[in-house]
Amino acid sequence: MTAPLLDIAGWRLAFDGFEGRAQVLDGIDLAVQAGETVGIVGETGCGKSVLARSVARLVEMPPGRVLGGSIRFEGQDVMAMDQRALARLRGHGVAMIFQDPMTYLNPVFRIGSQLVDVIRAHDKAAGRPARGRDAARARAAELLGQVRLPEPDRLLDRYPHELSGGMRQRVLIAMALTGTPKLLIADEPTTALDVTIQAQVLRLIADLVAAQALTLMLISHDLGVIGALCRRVVVMYAGTVVEDGAAEAIFADPRHPYTRGLLAAVPDLERPGHRARPIPGHIPNLLSPPPGCRFHPRCPLAVARCAGEKPALRDLAGRRVACHRAEEVAA
Ligand code: SF4
Repeated sequence: MTAPLLDIAGWRLAFDGFEGRAQVLDGIDLAVQAGETVGIVGETGCGKSVLARSVARLVEMPPGRVLGGSIRFEGQDVMAMDQRALARLRGHGVAMIFQDPMTYLNPVFRIGSQLVDVIRAHDKAAGRPARGRDAARARAAELLGQVRLPEPDRLLDRYPHELSGGMRQRVLIAMALTGTPKLLIADEPTTALDVTIQAQVLRLIADLVAAQALTLMLISHDLGVIGALCRRVVVMYAGTVVEDGAAEAIFADPRHPYTRGLLAAVPDLERPGHRARPIPGHIPNLLSPPPGCRFHPRCPLAVARCAGEKPALRDLAGRRVACHRAEEVAA
């Protein structure tokens, strides 16, 4: 097997605050090969977004604090990168799209001006002279066309508030593609959009990933979204990876009680009378996470061992599972 594009090993991250230290990521091991489409799923607050931001070194330190482990992109230690290498990583290596595009678009500048600035900045990060504003504007129009926005030339002269949520998200996707990245991280990219627009944006992401041979890391709490775009699923709970494998296998035969719970919580509209069953309880307070398996206070299969011993992420049935009783979990 070739070296992974992204290699996260034993990654432990905490946030220091007035109330103490929240241990938000607790030993994440995750390797992603070039060309993979990986969905990271879990309830809100389980650490998915912090993990995604860690990859592009976007977690502010402090209050963030690395407690251990490493993140390597194309073999390079992300935390050891100097500013130049980091600028190259963000854009040419890793690009991100986020849930709320308005937060990332400047409301006082026209779309064209923002895209031109990003294009020229990427030129510099790549070590070549920045193209002129006219050439950058032509490239910006080309990118807006790629994300299927009509009349790109006219759109360049508009302000973010003049666009719909779906159009703004497309602009953000165009921005993410500016540096021809290898890994695209999409963090809840459609959560703020209505259902019809969601489907269009997901289709667009899927088509761009296929056409540009991108590696995709899609963060979502929505299993349907993950299933539509990703061939591999990584399930996270309270800052840990609890199950990781082929999407088809995990959806058909989940081996971690938390994955089972997530699947049982999704309403099945094709099965009349089917009732979605939410997982009882809540994500634990990470200022004082439960000892042993972090899921044990909510787990229907918990035994005494679960509260005392953290389960290792081990190979089972063609995937990785972190559960002492995974062999007993039936679909
Ligand atoms: Fe449940 Fe124990 Fe497995 Fe954790 S290790 S998921 S508590 S059975």
